[in-house]
Amino acid sequence: MNIHEYQGKEILREYGVAVPRGKVAFSVEEAVEAAKELGSPVTVVKVQIHAGGRGKAGGVKVAKSLDEVEKFAREILGKTLVTHQTGPEGKVVKRLLIEEGSRIKKEYYVGLVVDRQSGRVVMMASEEGGMEIEEVAAKTPEKIFRETIDPLVGLLPFQARRLAYAINIPKELNSKAVKFMMGLYRVFEEKDCSVAEINPLVVTEEGEVIALDAKLNFDDNALYRHPEIQKLRDLDEEDPKEIEASKFDLSYIALDGNIGCMVNGAGLAMSTMDIIKFYGGEPANFLDVGGGASKEKVTEAFKIILSDEKVKGIYVNIFGGIMKCDVIAEGVVAAAREVGLDKPLVVRLEGTNVELGKKILNESGLNIVAAESMADGAEKIVNLVK
Ligand code: GDP
Ligand code: MN
Repeated sequence: MNIHEYQGKEILREYGVAVPRGKVAFSVEEAVEAAKELGSPVTVVKVQIHAGGRGKAGGVKVAKSLDEVEKFAREILGKTLVTHQTGPEGKVVKRLLIEEGSRIKKEYYVGLVVDRQSGRVVMMASEEGGMEIEEVAAKTPEKIFRETIDPLVGLLPFQARRLAYAINIPKELNSKAVKFMMGLYRVFEEKDCSVAEINPLVVTEEGEVIALDAKLNFDDNALYRHPEIQKLRDLDEEDPKEIEASKFDLSYIALDGNIGCMVNGAGLAMSTMDIIKFYGGEPANFLDVGGGASKEKVTEAFKIILSDEKVKGIYVNIFGGIMKCDVIAEGVVAAAREVGLDKPLVVRLEGTNVELGKKILNESGLNIVAAESMADGAEKIVNLVK
């Protein structure tokens, strides 16, 4: 789960990580009011959407007066902002962060991620703040420094110090940088983050070390133990199809292609997407209906796939292990009747009760193309949507 910058900064503040003073605003009036309250000579108006790249896209403005705050807020609220991370459709701006301006001396990068290779949390830091870390990694990888963190003892002060030295934070600010990094790691650990990225971390003219931006992502599987984080969820920022799917406990991720996939098991779902691509098609989604899905769950899954207007055809690829093929077949038939299926549907069933499943599909009167194998099904659906 993703949260907004202003929410992330509130969490950081609780953990003693320095952030600028600021307040969220949902309207022009609230924006002006917040700026008045801050009373700083310079105010920064920042678009709050779940995507980065706002700076370059005009989503971060520096205002020198209340009039300017009002002007920027009026210009941007309710508009769609397109950044290189939002996709071409952009995101509607509904919230702004009104923040006291900082006198930036230099921008840095600090981030925490889970490193799959070592199976540990790694803190990364770089002197190249403000630009995307992927770009730094591609062009000047030597400018990224890493510390692998032992989960038993956590980030150790000497590791933080070593990183601060490596990225040339002024020596007299070393202890502030260490405090910052230690606090950031505590947030990551205690809140079960999957990513914590501060880009930029800045050193100010006043000699402060503060987070000018904050991106916190949380591990969905650990959210049950953080009701305070769950409350921060902003459904406006999520794909409605994905929200619907999560209500039914379906693992669904919308993609850009035109072949809807309904599969059980994450591994089979991944290989189904691969094989569709192999035959020259593009999957419209990843969907794992799970091991013991009910007829209702299958019906919902089918409806979610069909609600995506990009979908030109559907490929159902089910291995009935715990899941029984007849249950899948009933779900498919029920959903197809309910929503009025008018798109090609290829079904490949294998496993428990497969004969019964095929019988249900054959007798349904629906126009269903049966597939002999996974590859056969993929090839058929790719040809049908062409
Ligand atoms: P992003 O583009 O979505 O990652 O948004 P950021 O929060 O990182 O802001 C982008 C850039 O705006 C930063 O790298 C800074 O250069 C600039 N910026 C953000 N806040 C301030 C501020 O308080 N004062 C000044 N002068 N610049 C700021
Ligand atoms: Mn940023």
